[in-house]
Amino acid sequence: MNSGKMPERGNRQPQDRRPPIRRARRRSFVGPVIAAVLLTTLVIVAIVVLFALIIGRPGKPLGNDTGTVPPPGEETDYQTLAPETTGIPETSFETEPSTAPEPVTEPAPVAITGYKVVTLDKSELFSGDLILVNSQYAYDFPEKKNTINVFNNKNKAYKLSSSQIELEPRTLEALNAMMLDFSNESGKSDVLVKNGYRSYEEQKQLFDARAASYGEENAKKYLAQPGHSEHHTGMCFDLGIYPDDGRVYDLDGLSGYADWFVKNCGKYGFILRYPENKAAITGITSDKWHFRYVGQVHAETMNELGLCLEEYLEELRKYPYNGDHLLVTTSSGKKYEIYYQYASDTGSTEVYVPENLPYTISGDNALGFVVTVSISG
Ligand SMILES: [Zn+2]
Repeated sequence: MNSGKMPERGNRQPQDRRPPIRRARRRSFVGPVIAAVLLTTLVIVAIVVLFALIIGRPGKPLGNDTGTVPPPGEETDYQTLAPETTGIPETSFETEPSTAPEPVTEPAPVAITGYKVVTLDKSELFSGDLILVNSQYAYDFPEKKNTINVFNNKNKAYKLSSSQIELEPRTLEALNAMMLDFSNESGKSDVLVKNGYRSYEEQKQLFDARAASYGEENAKKYLAQPGHSEHHTGMCFDLGIYPDDGRVYDLDGLSGYADWFVKNCGKYGFILRYPENKAAITGITSDKWHFRYVGQVHAETMNELGLCLEEYLEELRKYPYNGDHLLVTTSSGKKYEIYYQYASDTGSTEVYVPENLPYTISGDNALGFVVTVSISG
């Protein structure tokens, strides 16, 4: 049907144009005088046009205006076209995203839709970001050492007191990141990492040497007993300052160092493990240079709540799986849900974990497990 109609429409158009042609034929009856006038005007017009061309040539290079101009829409020279297009609103697309403030898009937290059970062996109580090693809880040394050499894996933003220092890999990664940022912000690269992982034997030598010189009571006051030093974990280190004058300073021995680390360490997953105001709980009097890795979410939460590790674990035990969970947001805007599961006496423990969201489990080296669920959408 349609194909039949189309040609019909096409045939009508020439018929419609016939009347003007007919009118033109009628004009041919006008006298020769008018024809002569038309001819002369044509000649005059031709002369005028010729003149215009001859005069116009020097001022207008023909090649520029005619042959080489690209068809509209085809941009052949981005450099020269760019300034011309500055007034066109479309160019503002390029600048709008950078000038507008970063949109703070905090996605709504994702709800845990269901739980499944994982069964944890008793040995898993002794590992994870949140293990507590103090005078009460000894470190459970794993069969295979989980530390690596710092000297071979560090950046140039800091110094080492020994090329033999070792740290647990994630701790070292976080240390590198923190030191790089400190160095970039302060222009300094003379912070010294003095101690990292320490074996049972090394701690024993330190302790025995001190006890021999100052007595056992003195040694107990200033040093952890072998097996009870947090340095066994490889997840902590001591910082000093080693500037060009060749002397070694404590981290708070020169201005412009200690405050930065206390203020910023949480972002990298570190806590100042033995703050002065927690000495009664930690049992260690103010180590202003000893930092411990616990992961960003827990470090920032501890700093915000003003709790040391002993207190923080005690606090988390108030958030069981089947009760309220602790909801926290990190400085990078990530949201987490945290809850606690006491370890079973039977040897293995059933822990409820979300079916639909990523999570980590850390033993606390004491009474149970901390489940940390990432609930960022
Ligand atoms: Zn230390």
